[in-house]
Amino acid sequence: MILSSIDLLKFFILTFLLFACFGKPHRYQNRCLKHDNHHNTEEMLAALDYIHAQCPDITHIYDLPLRSTENRPLRVIIISDQPEIHEPLEPEFKYVANMHGNEVVGRELLLRLAEYLCQEYQNRNEQIQNLVDNTRIHLMPSMNPDGWEIAAQYAWNTTQDLAFPDISTMMKEYGAKDYLMGRANARDIDLNRNFPNLDKFIYAYNHHSHHKNNHLDMETFRLLLKDHDCMKKPYQIETIAVAFWIMQSPFVLSANLHNGDLVANYPYDTSENSRKQYSGSPDDYLFRQLAEAYSYAHKQMSSPGQRCDGEHFKDGITNGAAWYPVCGGMQDFNYLASNCFELTFELGCDKFPPGKELKSLWDDNQHSLINYMMKTHTGIKGLIQNEEGESISNAGIKIYYIKDGEMNYIDHDVKSNLDGDYYRLLPDGSYAIEVNSFGYKKAIQYVTVQNQIDQVNAQRVDFVLKQATMEEINRQEVMKKYWK
Ligand SMILES: [Zn+2]
Repeated sequence: MILSSIDLLKFFILTFLLFACFGKPHRYQNRCLKHDNHHNTEEMLAALDYIHAQCPDITHIYDLPLRSTENRPLRVIIISDQPEIHEPLEPEFKYVANMHGNEVVGRELLLRLAEYLCQEYQNRNEQIQNLVDNTRIHLMPSMNPDGWEIAAQYAWNTTQDLAFPDISTMMKEYGAKDYLMGRANARDIDLNRNFPNLDKFIYAYNHHSHHKNNHLDMETFRLLLKDHDCMKKPYQIETIAVAFWIMQSPFVLSANLHNGDLVANYPYDTSENSRKQYSGSPDDYLFRQLAEAYSYAHKQMSSPGQRCDGEHFKDGITNGAAWYPVCGGMQDFNYLASNCFELTFELGCDKFPPGKELKSLWDDNQHSLINYMMKTHTGIKGLIQNEEGESISNAGIKIYYIKDGEMNYIDHDVKSNLDGDYYRLLPDGSYAIEVNSFGYKKAIQYVTVQNQIDQVNAQRVDFVLKQATMEEINRQEVMKKYWK
């Protein structure tokens, strides 16, 4: 085969690009991932491919089965020692960013975080290796890629008088200033008001002491069948894709990254009467600790006097409903529809800052992002099996906090996964752990939890359940009907 000079030129350009993109990260680290400017959809997807090429053994890229309204992928990168599978006893974590399309800092931070984890793993950074080897980390840089494009395009259309030579320069030097344009999805629906509003069921159940406190699957389906959310807007494809992802994945801890303020926000986001008032969940103490794990490790979030244009938040944290009530938010949906505990982090006043500020935003958030992920390993975890050594999935795990000899029920159970593994985030203290599964005798163990800084393995509490007698099974049948 004879190569023309054009072919040869193409060959050299391609070879150069391949070498530049896939070479050793410490030599070429800035070539393929911009640290001083924003990534549009195409560049974001290319950046994820680039990171995967750098660290193929510890990364895996996948898309949710549904795409955005304008047909863009809802893409996720996993970082873990065995990225393609769920390993029993290894907890799963997620960060979701850019749900509001014009709140873009989280999107850029997650790209940078993926690159950082990849590089530091290769550099044998002990903390990062421990984290990656013992956690399955999912990063979704953009839940609303259509909104991002709308925000960027609007900014470009309205800054003609500033005479930027191109849109990329505009984003680097100026960002986007409109407070709302691009916030919603392409059908103009706010995705963080568009999740099934499970809070209303919880408040009703609490009223009747029903203790139906988690995995509200039937309630979720009932609401989705209604075809409109609590703001009377139709459920959106992005919401449905993410809601099923949450319900079907064994996530333990998560955060939803926003902009517009500087604070770590924790459940609940709604109050019983929809008024602005403190509305703690049964895990309120734990949630405040998780919020502080982010705000204290952040360079500015917990500083006294720190504020955007609203109120000052003590310690850089707030209960959602005490700040302003939101119905149909993703945070409470995680807590009430799955095993996953989610918080919402507001990463700064400026929603779409100039790209040149991204370096200092990374410096502000880097330790927080890592410190928060480490919290996936607080509390307890274990395997639930029968006497034959078979895994028991869907077992209910109830937690009682023990104080002064009294057992106090924490009204929020978790369930075991398909492999029989379970995870329960818990602050330090003494607890009784009760496991229930149909056809088996109830089992209880007593533990004292003492979390260590930077631990990458929660305390192990395994259960072997004994077969129930016929009489006990009949009683369980009666109880099952009663709880229905
Ligand atoms: Zn937001």
